[in-house]
This record gives sequence, structure tokens and C-alpha cells, in this order.
Amino acid sequence: MTNFIYNPKSPVADEFICHAEIVESIKFAEEHKNDKELLAQILSKAKEEKGLSHREALILLINDMPEINRQIEDLAKQIKLDFYGNRVVLFAPLYLSNYCVNGCTYCPYHAINKNMPRKKMTQDEIRDEVVALQDMGHKRLALELGEHPQMNPLEYVLESINTIYDIKHKNGSIRRVNVNIAATDEASYSKLKDAGIGTYILFQETYNRERYEKLHPTGPKHDYNRQTEAMDRAMRGGIDDVGIGVLFGLSTYLYEFTALLMHVEHLKAVFNVGPHTISVPRLRPADGINPALFADCISDDIFVKIVACLRIAVPTAGMIISTRESKETRERVLQLGISQISGGSKTSVGGYSHPQEEDKDSAQFDVCDNRTLDEIVYWLLKNGHIPSFCTACYRKHRTGEQFMKLCANKSIHHFCHPNALLSLQEYLTDYASEATKALGEKIIAQEVAKLPEQSAKFVTQHLQDIKDGKGRDFYL
Ligand code: SF4
Ligand code: SF4
Repeated sequence: MTNFIYNPKSPVADEFICHAEIVESIKFAEEHKNDKELLAQILSKAKEEKGLSHREALILLINDMPEINRQIEDLAKQIKLDFYGNRVVLFAPLYLSNYCVNGCTYCPYHAINKNMPRKKMTQDEIRDEVVALQDMGHKRLALELGEHPQMNPLEYVLESINTIYDIKHKNGSIRRVNVNIAATDEASYSKLKDAGIGTYILFQETYNRERYEKLHPTGPKHDYNRQTEAMDRAMRGGIDDVGIGVLFGLSTYLYEFTALLMHVEHLKAVFNVGPHTISVPRLRPADGINPALFADCISDDIFVKIVACLRIAVPTAGMIISTRESKETRERVLQLGISQISGGSKTSVGGYSHPQEEDKDSAQFDVCDNRTLDEIVYWLLKNGHIPSFCTACYRKHRTGEQFMKLCANKSIHHFCHPNALLSLQEYLTDYASEATKALGEKIIAQEVAKLPEQSAKFVTQHLQDIKDGKGRDFYL
């Protein structure tokens, strides 16, 4: 591999995700493993809650001293509380089409999987799915579809976004559509922005070029530069909220962790805006995919530690886990920094409106947490979290740099908490079981009592409006 100079400001993939810098960082961290003095310095810096560099965070991740690990967990919990409070935002993925021209070896949607029934929803079928999602109580979706220029052109995505925003069924509405589509060009990103998307999400899968090219042998996704530089094009196209992530298990976790943080540093250096979210999926079993074939799968304990170290390194990025993770793992990482989770998810095309017919073979991965949204809401409440269906920020134009400033100085709380309580009340009034409603309303009353006077007044008035059926969608 050619040697590149590490330059976080460079637009060239191999310069901001510089292989030599990653290798050197891992070597440095291994040499300084359990260096008490250095660890104390890093932890002291981390306590300022302004983040860490990739090398500093890696040194925390690599240490194996129980006392230091306890401090890492405590600090991650504190940062979670200071930036995100006890709230957890809920969303659902919506799979529009599983046609795909790529050859990703870890994904059952890859082009040569002939066992995979291919489906692409019509606008009418999307309506059915969205009505089913609204009837569950969802307000925020993440659109998912394979890359297929003929079957899934951008026009199809734009039309689908329009359809989704237009559906008003009973008291339901989808108020934020995040989009996870293949890397594309600046002009297409501008069109997505104009369509009113929330966050553009694209996982790198693996930052290790050699592994990347092997795991993506065919199709346009084979192009490592296209994938790695996509967020730059998205930002230049006007999308200022981007979500990054890797699929842990495709390469060594030390490599991915370091590179992920270098990507954060690059976005900050060039656009003055870090990622809006970081997702931390792990390889899961799926049709024709055996995770045992991938030597770099990570244990639950390592996974939990990665979440804690990311929380400390990038306090301003929301962190997302999906239903790939079990209830038990979700419980552990929610404390340590996860701020968004999916609930009641179906990972197949058409799975919400036809659950009885859901063809398991068309799912992208096996869901590990199969609970309903109501069960998830109840569980979150029972565990001291406030489930939130808030979608306020992008509708109030709090995006990009403006959002990051509010987040960095921790004043986003003043919006998030009232909005969480109001959106939760909507859920309780319109969709919840009796048990969830009773518990939720009790907890809302306790939380309102802790709000500053003006917010408490705003929230109290609109909580009543929701209960009285006088309106929905109140937010700051
Ligand atoms: Fe297609 Fe995405 Fe699956 Fe790759 S990961 S095969 S691009 S759907
Ligand atoms: Fe997210 Fe903004 Fe709502 Fe807070 S106020 S939960 S940051 S959309």
C-alpha cells in the first residue's frame, strides 16, 4: 500500500483516513497500554467533556486495568447524562427495496444471492407500510434500500419521501425521514436536502481499504474512495446532518475505532461540523451469511467498551443501535451513551403492513430484539429512560453548525426535554397499552416538576391539549 501523509483537512480518502496513521496509532497505544500516567492525563482531559483525539481514545480502549475501565464507564455515563439526559429517541427502519447491484459479502441483499426474493414497494405499498408504522406510534423513520440505478433511482427515493411526509392517518404523521442510500454525487445530495430529509446516513462498513475492496468485490460500492469521501460530497451538497458508522466485525475493532474517529476529526476540520450520529452495528446472522466466517467479530464486553469510549471521544454525536442487539446488550449500552434506538423493527421489504406474511428470507439481518414498540417504551420507562419521539430540530432549522453549538454547550437540553415529554404524551394518548400509559403519565408528571418554570408552563398546557384532543405536534 502506498504511503500517504496524514492530513485531516485533505479531501482525499487515503489522507484523512490514513492507513499509516492508524497503524502507528495502534502501535503507540499498544506500547503505552496500561501507562498509568498517560491514562490519568487522558481521563483528566476527557472529564472536560470536549472530546478526545483518536489516539487518546484508542489508549483508553486498549487498556485493561479494571480501575481505569470503571472510570471510563462512569465518565461515559456522566457525559450521556450531561448531553442527552435520560432521554432515548425512537425510530424505525423502513426498507423500500432490496434490489441491489453490489456484491457486499456480508449482506444477503448482494446481487448474486439468488435465494433472496426481490421486492420493491410501489407508492401504494409504501402508504400501507407508513400507516402501519404510524399505528405503532412512530414519527421518525430511516429509509433503507439497496443500490440499483434502474430499480431504485433517486427519483424513486424522492417520490417515496414525498409520499411518506404526505400521509396523515388518524393522529399519526412521520415527521422526520432519515435516509440511508448508497454514496452518490453532490447534485443528488442537494435533491435529498430539498426533499426535507433529516440525517443522511451512510456506513463506511470498514475503513480498512484492503478489507473493504475484498468484501465489496463487485458493483459501484467496490470504489473505496467513493464511499469514504461521500460525506464530503453530502456536506457540499447542503446536507449538514450526516450519520456515520462501521459494521464491527469486518476488520479489527481497533482499526475501525481509530478510523471512525479520524473521520469525525476530518468532518470537523473541513466543515466545522462533526457527525450528527454515529451508529455501531455488529455483524449479525442473515440468510447465507455466517458471522463465524468473519474472524473479527467482537464480544459483548468489547462492544460495550467501544460504545463508552466513543461516548467520551465525541460527546456531541448521537449514538445509535438497532434491533440487531439483544435486550440485555441494549440495557448495558443505553447507560453508557446510546441516545437513539430502533423499536418494533422489520428488516424486510413490506414487513410492517404484512407481518403475518413476512418472508423471513427477505430480511436484511435477523432481528435480535423482537419486542413491540409498546414493550420497548414500557421497558425504557421502567429502566429510568424517557422515550422520545421528538423530531423538532430540523423543522426548526437547528441543523449542522447551529445544532452542534447548542449540543456542545449543553443547551440543547432546553429543547430536548420538553419535546420528549410532549411527544411521549402523544404516544401514550394515541397508541400505548394501559400499563405503559399509566407508567408514562406518572413519569411525565415527575419530569415536568423538574423543568424550569417557563418550560413547565409550556409543557403542562400542551400536555393537556394532547389529552383533550385539541392538537398534536407541539414542540420548541
Ligand atoms: Fe446492497 Fe447495501 Fe446490502 Fe451492500 S449492504 S449488498 S449495498 S443492500
Ligand atoms: Fe433531537 Fe432536537 Fe428533538 Fe433534541 S430537540 S430530541 S436534538 S430533534
